[in-house]
Amino acid sequence: MPVARHEADILQLVKNGFFDEIKLPLVLGGGSNILLTKDEVEKVLKIEIYGIEIVNRTNDYTIVKAGAGVNWQGFVEFTLDYGLYGIENLTLIPGTCGAAPMQNIGAYGVEISDVFDSLEAIHLQTGKKEIFYKEDCEFGYRQSVFKSTCKNEYIISSINLRLRNHFTPVLSYEVLASRLESSGNTNPTARDLSRLVAAIRMEKLPDPAKQGNAGSFFKNPVVDMYQFQEIKKTYCDLPAYFQEDEKVKIPAAWLIERAGLKGFQVGNARVHDRQALVLVNSGKASGNEILELSKLVADSVFSIFNIRLDPEVNIV
Ligand SMILES: Cc1cc2nc3c(=O)[nH]c(=O)nc-3n(C[C@H](O)[C@H](O)[C@H](O)COP(=O)(O)OP(=O)(O)OC[C@H]3O[C@@H](n4cnc5c(N)ncnc54)[C@H](O)[C@@H]3O)c2cc1C
Repeated sequence: MPVARHEADILQLVKNGFFDEIKLPLVLGGGSNILLTKDEVEKVLKIEIYGIEIVNRTNDYTIVKAGAGVNWQGFVEFTLDYGLYGIENLTLIPGTCGAAPMQNIGAYGVEISDVFDSLEAIHLQTGKKEIFYKEDCEFGYRQSVFKSTCKNEYIISSINLRLRNHFTPVLSYEVLASRLESSGNTNPTARDLSRLVAAIRMEKLPDPAKQGNAGSFFKNPVVDMYQFQEIKKTYCDLPAYFQEDEKVKIPAAWLIERAGLKGFQVGNARVHDRQALVLVNSGKASGNEILELSKLVADSVFSIFNIRLDPEVNIV
């Protein structure tokens, strides 16, 4: 399997016509957000561009550059060690820095777009290195230009994040505020917050190293206010996150749970018992079995709530 350790390796592959054929390679970071539906993939390029460097520092913020292959959690640890703030809520998200902007990773009230400065990416046909600033990336909920109009056109080689030099905790997620309050910690440090996020994630989410899973399989659906109010008439406990533009985001996990599918199993593919948004491999399930289960879950939710669940996972 070809491995890119430097940008020059990608440029060489462009010159050699590696990306010219009709079949583009699967670009692989940590593989934590990919569901393979075949036993073999013809062409794969693994990204292992490492290195972290401070690019610029002002009184308020510091721009830090990370190679696309840098492990995300390793990067979070680096920022905490150096007193740079803004991504502590994104603790323990599996994967690499290069993949992080792809779906604008987010958790516990923070998305990478909140601290994003720019990234460098290589165009697969021309070999040209291009800079994408935040506004170029068209970030949305689990969305970016690299998943839409520029899909399969670029390899991200590095990212630049604009991190704060002074810590202000983001506690918009109720669970963070309430857990801190019950522990009597009224003045948490970034480390405290990172540890808390890690503890909550470990309680809820299966560890992919121990049980195969791709994290949240579905995105949380966003519906209009009318549809939300209609469903709420029947389900008065329907949770909701009100968005700008009169839209409402509904937790997919709640819909799946209320459809009675928590713990639902087909063959070796299973809806996780603690977090219904996660589909796990409870034995030797093939990618197709997971995909079949996901379709059953989505169809079932649709038939009850008239809401279509879209996968967050990249299906190959
Ligand atoms: C247990 C678990 C929990 C998770 N929790 C969260 C969460 O809280 N929030 C969240 O947002 N996500 C979450 N995820 C999803 C996943 O962690 C993220 O999507 C992560 O960014 C994927 O990184 P990766 O390196 O593993 O990417 P991969 O799975 O290798 O790739 C993902 C996609 O990005 C492409 N890609 C990868 N690297 C590059 C590159 N350098 N250039 C161009 N394209 C590239 C791949 O081709 C693929 O399409 C979770 C996953 C798991 C298994």
